[in-house]
Amino acid sequence: MKSVHGLCERCERPGYIVHHKKELAPNNINDPNITLNHDNLEYLCLDCHNAEHDFNREKKSATKKGYRFNDKGELVPTT
Ligand SMILES: [Zn+2]
Repeated sequence: MKSVHGLCERCERPGYIVHHKKELAPNNINDPNITLNHDNLEYLCLDCHNAEHDFNREKKSATKKGYRFNDKGELVPTT
């Protein structure tokens, strides 16, 4: 986070969502090599995070089918 001073990496507004570039799933969400790997992280504001997921939705979901991010950025089942 210090590298971007807590600002969104895209629009430089204050950001607070850590976007994972690699798809998160229950079998890797507790794996620090995935969740804490800076190469896999992008610090975004909520708007940019939502835009990213909207943009990817048609070609590739950012989350495993049946899961979604809640408003805290946590991976939760959709059911
Ligand atoms: Zn942003």
